[in-house]
Amino acid sequence: MGKLGTKEWAIRNFNIAQGCPNGCTYCYACRNAIRFKRVKNREEWMNGKLVAPKPIGNWCNNPHDYVMYPSSHDIWPEIENEYCWNLAELLAKGNNVLIVTKPRVSIIQRICGQFANRKDKILFRFTIGGNNERALKFFEAEAPTLKERLKALSIAKSSGFRISVSMEPLLMDPYEAPKFISPLIESCESIWVGIMTNIPVRQGFWFKQLTDWYTIDKLEWLADFYSKSKTIKFKDSIRNIIANPRTSQKLTDFLGKV
Ligand code: SF4
Repeated sequence: MGKLGTKEWAIRNFNIAQGCPNGCTYCYACRNAIRFKRVKNREEWMNGKLVAPKPIGNWCNNPHDYVMYPSSHDIWPEIENEYCWNLAELLAKGNNVLIVTKPRVSIIQRICGQFANRKDKILFRFTIGGNNERALKFFEAEAPTLKERLKALSIAKSSGFRISVSMEPLLMDPYEAPKFISPLIESCESIWVGIMTNIPVRQGFWFKQLTDWYTIDKLEWLADFYSKSKTIKFKDSIRNIIANPRTSQKLTDFLGKV
């Protein structure tokens, strides 16, 4: 088993805000912030605000190391200037930067313009859990639409940047996923697929839908479908389930309660 979670992608995380207006139902950072009393509730979390970032160093010792920025919030217009200022600092110190975002077109246009001469040091990772727009709207209520995210991806690609996609959490039926994933392959250097691990215990249609999507049979089928692909990579959230019957039983038991 390799590295887990964000460590699978980057040697270090860097953030400049607490909170995030996207308000994703499954947000682990939000849950932690409430748990450790950094914010009172989800509403306060969604009023994201800037915090003083840690001093920036030269953290990437080899060409394959990345700093993930951001890792616990997204990039939205009110923090765009500070985001770009710190991105310039990270790059100036010699770091490679993995930009993980549910992308807003205006912000991606700005980054592509302002950092056009740093393409070699930037890798975009656009979070797009699938093409089920109703699911995206439910689980990621205030995040950019599917159309906007795909447009942002296309802008970054045509500007010559390296692109990857995160489909974690997967928000569509695994049996349907290849119709969405396969056309993206030629644009992306990697596509990471994982399931929602921070599932809130709630009633309702979409939570029941997860029980239908996240079955061992369907996840195994998808992993098998792309077993020869060098581009499609499965996150530990899926690898664990496939490799470990006890983990998969825990998931089945948990989903049975949703
Ligand atoms: S985009 Fe990320 S940080 Fe923002 S609410 Fe969604 S999961 Fe949380």
